[in-house]
Amino acid sequence: MVMDKFDINMAVAIFGGTFDPVHYGHIKVASDLADHLDVNSVALMPCGKPTHRPSPAATPSQRLDMLKLSIVGNQKLTLEASEIDTTTPNYTINSLRRIRSRIGAKETVFLCIGSDTLSQLDSWHQWTDLTKYCHIVAISRPGLNREYSSSLRNWIASRRCRDVTKLKEKPAGFVYHCELSFLDISSTKIRQKIKKNEALQKLLPKKVVNYIHINHLYK
Ligand code: ATP
Repeated sequence: MVMDKFDINMAVAIFGGTFDPVHYGHIKVASDLADHLDVNSVALMPCGKPTHRPSPAATPSQRLDMLKLSIVGNQKLTLEASEIDTTTPNYTINSLRRIRSRIGAKETVFLCIGSDTLSQLDSWHQWTDLTKYCHIVAISRPGLNREYSSSLRNWIASRRCRDVTKLKEKPAGFVYHCELSFLDISSTKIRQKIKKNEALQKLLPKKVVNYIHINHLYK
């Protein structure tokens, strides 16, 4: 199901990424987050033009197609596709503002990111304002953690919440860490395997693998 607008009166959880391509690591963690945060669904939000990395190899519409294929039949996942059409670099803070203007100030918003992404948060545009609009939920991603700057460490410490049930009592403001079972998969690894013509079993859904082959992606 593609989400055009968020349901009213319910917490919103967003899991952003490049999804070049989407894989079982994303799907599993986003599905587990829906249970852990007790939300009806988690919206996968593909970025249009990433600000912190080279442009994706697949086009925005190909990445969106693969995401659509990957969530068929999964009631816990939806898509938030509002960023994908932007041709200028998109900043998460602007997406959050857009989402807030759609749903109002009272609903709880969770921005879910891997811990590798959290450690780079201080390079994001207007990063200290992010928690005005959402709670940040950081999922442990072992092996990929980088050093935290002292300003980021202090910022996180002053917003830290360890109790998931407390998060929904406020619309925004906390940083929460969660440990979910983790699959050692990355899009980088998948792109490398495709280049080397290696098998992709158990890394991403079969329908997405077929789409990649038909469209000669990542060769
Ligand atoms: P790449 O290898 O191209 O950097 P990626 O696999 O890290 O891609 P992204 O689309 O960049 O995927 O990631 C989107 C979000 O998903 C990020 O917050 C990232 O930390 C998280 N993520 C990616 N892979 C996993 C995984 N296997 N388990 C949990 N979270 C993941």
